[in-house]
Amino acid sequence: MSFADLGLSDELLKAVTEAGYTDPTPIQRQAIPSVLMMRDLIGIAQTGTGKTASFVLPMIDVLAEGRSRARMPRSLILEPTRELAAQVAENFEKYGTHHKLSMALLIGGVQMGDQVKALEKGVDVLIATPGRLMDLFERGKILLTGCNLLVIDEADRMLDMGFIPDIENICTKLPANRQTLLFSATMPPPIKKLADKFLSNPKTIEVARPASTNTNITQWLVPVPNSAFAKREALRRLIDDQGVTTAIIFCNRKTTVRELNKSLKKHGYRSAEIHGDMDQSSRIAELDRFKAGDVNILVASDVAARGLDIKGVSHVFNFDAPWHPDDYVHRIGRTGRAGATGTAFTLVSSADAEAIDNIEKLQGQKIDRMGALPVEEEPAEEKKGRGRKGSKPKADAPKSDKKAADKPREARKDEPREERRPEAREPRRETEAREPRRDDRPRRDRDRRRDSFDDGPDDGWNGPVPDFLNFTIPA
Ligand code: AMP
Repeated sequence: MSFADLGLSDELLKAVTEAGYTDPTPIQRQAIPSVLMMRDLIGIAQTGTGKTASFVLPMIDVLAEGRSRARMPRSLILEPTRELAAQVAENFEKYGTHHKLSMALLIGGVQMGDQVKALEKGVDVLIATPGRLMDLFERGKILLTGCNLLVIDEADRMLDMGFIPDIENICTKLPANRQTLLFSATMPPPIKKLADKFLSNPKTIEVARPASTNTNITQWLVPVPNSAFAKREALRRLIDDQGVTTAIIFCNRKTTVRELNKSLKKHGYRSAEIHGDMDQSSRIAELDRFKAGDVNILVASDVAARGLDIKGVSHVFNFDAPWHPDDYVHRIGRTGRAGATGTAFTLVSSADAEAIDNIEKLQGQKIDRMGALPVEEEPAEEKKGRGRKGSKPKADAPKSDKKAADKPREARKDEPREERRPEAREPRRETEAREPRRDDRPRRDRDRRRDSFDDGPDDGWNGPVPDFLNFTIPA
């Protein structure tokens, strides 16, 4: 089946060809005709499946007729994060190049004035994060009564981020006879309930997870001691020895993102960072530096990097094992995209046993373990210094001893790889995966605040709320 068989206009077919696509992906094949027929839709699909185009393309044709009115957007797309909202906006620009549709982006972290001006002119498509949309709605800057098409994207992430009450509220402000499209990687009960309440006779489409079935990604677990110092050293060894061209390194906490980036830069690496505490323009600037190749390492938190479509990433490193198994799939899916091969390394200490167990259950396969890397423990005096009352934790500075592996990257780059650490060039598989010990399990901290995500204060945890503790994995 080709794009021409899906009922799209000639202008859109032209834009699709210009985007370089030859065939529609499975979700596009199934979703596009239904959206064009104005049906409600539930799409169980992740990023990487082509799901954005599955709603953006037909929306453009649906909206081609008709006119926008001031403050009354004709369609609304809800996204959990600013980055995803910006990415969907880019998709509209790309596919809508032969149409004259107007669009506005309502996201936190950018000046509200321009966003309000755009709304006042009238827009065909409004792409928003729920928080900013509700804010403007409550100020009377926006009317949703003319909004006949609603897309709720990444619904399960919205749930993780505590946005469901906002979404319910928003749904009640739209006309009851609108068309609603809901996309989610998983369908936990609260999302099912949301769909039952706000969608009418939807068509349900489910497509395979891209990353979990992606055989282009080689995955490794790397046993490390349970200390940030040792983990940073292990990470540097991997970066040096594994032929990394571009890498995204994921951390669970915003503070870890900052500290790790600082440490990598001190050791001579070209790295940048992206996390929820940064304003929008800084995040975009950092991403652009990475995309342009000014830096080749991006240290990221889950929320900030969710769904980002960055091509040509050779390696993904999980500096911390994610607590939520779905996040593992999303993280490693940043590499091995569009037919390319990629490698994902996850540093695992004894505290990560349960998280890894859940990831392996979700993937339905064990992940190979490398032999332990010969990393050193933190020198006693540094440990003592860090423990002192009032002293701030600092990123580890390059050590002054003469060992090659501890020299800054710049000083090492001329040395032949083999002389550095031959045994690490090819990961060693252990013959038997180590069984996690029961008493290694992390403390279940159910009291962490739900709102510590994207724009929230930095109270440490930046990944999903450890809701996976309530998450049941199909046997
Ligand atoms: P998404 O799942 O929407 O995040 O899309 C993932 C990537 O697939 C993006 O880089 C899209 O540009 C790309 N893409 C979407 N549709 C197609 C297609 N039919 N053929 C090839 N690439 C596509």
